[in-house]
Amino acid sequence: MTRIYPHFIVAKFGGTSVADFDAMNRSASIVLADPNVRLVVLSASAGVTNLLVELSEGLESRQQLDKLETLRTIQYNIISRLKQPTVISKEIDNLLDNIGHLAQTAATSPSAALSDELVSHGELMSSLLFTEVLREREAEASWFDARSVIRTDDTYGCAAPDIDALATLAETHLRPRLEQAIMITQGFIGRDAQGHTTTLGRGGSDYTASLLGEALNAGRVDIWTDVAGIYTTDPRIAPNAKRIDRISFSEASDMAAYGAKVLHPATLLPAMRKNIPVFVGSSKNTAAGGTLVCSTTENPPRYRAVAVRRKQTLLRLHSLDAQPSCHFLAQMFALLARHSVAADLVTTSENSIALALDSTHATSGEDHTLTTSLFTELSSHCRVEVETGLALVTLVGNQLTQASGVFKDVFAWLEEHAVRMVCHGASSNNLCFLLPADEADSAIKALHLQLFES
Ligand code: ADP
Ligand code: ASP
Ligand code: MG
Repeated sequence: MTRIYPHFIVAKFGGTSVADFDAMNRSASIVLADPNVRLVVLSASAGVTNLLVELSEGLESRQQLDKLETLRTIQYNIISRLKQPTVISKEIDNLLDNIGHLAQTAATSPSAALSDELVSHGELMSSLLFTEVLREREAEASWFDARSVIRTDDTYGCAAPDIDALATLAETHLRPRLEQAIMITQGFIGRDAQGHTTTLGRGGSDYTASLLGEALNAGRVDIWTDVAGIYTTDPRIAPNAKRIDRISFSEASDMAAYGAKVLHPATLLPAMRKNIPVFVGSSKNTAAGGTLVCSTTENPPRYRAVAVRRKQTLLRLHSLDAQPSCHFLAQMFALLARHSVAADLVTTSENSIALALDSTHATSGEDHTLTTSLFTELSSHCRVEVETGLALVTLVGNQLTQASGVFKDVFAWLEEHAVRMVCHGASSNNLCFLLPADEADSAIKALHLQLFES
């Protein structure tokens, strides 16, 4: 009998939640515990994407073979625990062979398109294996190729999805199938107009889950990871970080945008557009509860959380004129726009501009933000100073520009640090400062102790 699931749930499982057979089994129990879970979005098993990224950067043959062997071991450790391993082993072997061929090509002629093609194999393999784990538990589960609905542009490594195309394609190809089986698909990957595989940037599976939730008007999106919710800061940095039980879209979205890795930066945008609540919890410990991200919260606190974004570059542009023309700013921003560089942090003084460039999210390991051509063009107009190895620490909160005492609360705890740049004022919800990357953790600990532990 066909059932209708008007408030179905999209459940996304991250790398550690599908790392091995036991993790997949625990995640399968979560899926099977609630009949409303109809669509499952999966990351690659933990460690697999990193191995594939390394292969895509072109390794010599000995190293290639080592990485391929590690990949095969991860897959076969799962396959060997299945009751009927032969059902799936042939398909996984084909994908592993494919990875081998693509890695050889990458060694001689690497490209961003090839890299995305190669890296997508992680999600393809984990989703095939997870479908089998569910089937062996008597579930009606069906594998679905996310690329048949996630259309993107051709910005390989950090592709932008086509929201309208997704809505139409998902309605036609995915919705009817949700009523017959639990659909298992891949996070992170899409396809461009030429039919090439693309990726949505590191951590992009969260984004896939909310994009599909938006396209199909899901009742909720559940993000299952290795922490029991969203905390006041990364609990790996400050072990006394506290779980936030309920948080607004805008606060959590700021946290994600400023580096809280628990959610890909764009995850909450689709959820916000359709007002779909997002739950974050631990697949290892469902009893621990989690965080609900929704449209509003009662009494939002002044200080909500501290986030960090690493791999930041500071660019200082100094006008060559003692009396810079009023066009200097316009000229510099037009130049950055021509190179598709979005600087989300900017400060200016009389004849200089400081910008922080972010290179955390593209799938490929290289930093494509400050290219040689951008540097050359900038240098022909102004004196350019570049400083790498920085981190952006952000305090996320509410009404920070209206409240008094914020600077006293914050800067007293940063005395020890050489802060390179401060951004405050444009948004009342955050206060950002750029400092040397190796000082970020101690600055976060100090700030967290002062603002959240006293
Ligand atoms: P997954 O593979 O499941 O997507 P991620 O590693 O991408 O998991 O994200 C989970 C990690 O995010 C946690 O292990 C934690 O270290 C990190 N993290 C960073 N900031 C926060 C935060 N504010 N709250 C919870 N976890 C955070
Ligand atoms: N597997 C991809 C990554 O490691 C996407 C994801 O896990 O969300 O970045
Ligand atoms: Mg993640």
